Amino acid sequence: MSGMNDRLNREPESITGAPEKMNFWRNLGMIRPIAWVLAIAFFVCLQLVFWLAVFPNSDPAEMAKTPIGVRALLSTLAATVMMVWVLLVGFVYADSKRRGMRHVMWTLLAAFVPNAIGIILYFLLRDPLPSPCPKCSQLVRGSFAFCPHCGAELLRACRVCGKKLEPGWMNCAHCGAPTAQPTRAA
Ligand SMILES: [Zn+2]
Ligand SMILES: [Zn+2]
Repeated sequence: MSGMNDRLNREPESITGAPEKMNFWRNLGMIRPIAWVLAIAFFVCLQLVFWLAVFPNSDPAEMAKTPIGVRALLSTLAATVMMVWVLLVGFVYADSKRRGMRHVMWTLLAAFVPNAIGIILYFLLRDPLPSPCPKCSQLVRGSFAFCPHCGAELLRACRVCGKKLEPGWMNCAHCGAPTAQPTRAA
């Protein structure tokens, strides 16, 4: 983890994207061109597999009962699922990198854990978006207690157990110690 902190200190420009809420179209725009190319390639390949290998080698009697429109629907549906999955993996890569998370690990999990479990886990566990430091306005990861650029305190730490206190807490939620005054809004 410390290696990543160092990287974040050296390359603040690696955190791209504004801290405000991202809408769907801007999320789509974050996906790298290579992921789009891969997604389209997967779509075309899966269509080819269906029309050149699966349908011709299926039981002819069974195939005769399946109208061509249904076959087209089936192959397009399967190819679209594949394409969306590749795009989601591409999104996990871009989004986890932007959030300063371990993006290689998350991209591999999203790509190779079956049944999209890696992708679901990513959306459940991802770190908050970086937000600007109130003092130097550099983008800082949401989980940081201090600004790595200017050292400003972003979240107060408990005097007793040292864990981070969230804004508005009168008592530490980790050890119960009073916080003396309500923690200021971050
Ligand atoms: Zn700062
Ligand atoms: Zn505490």
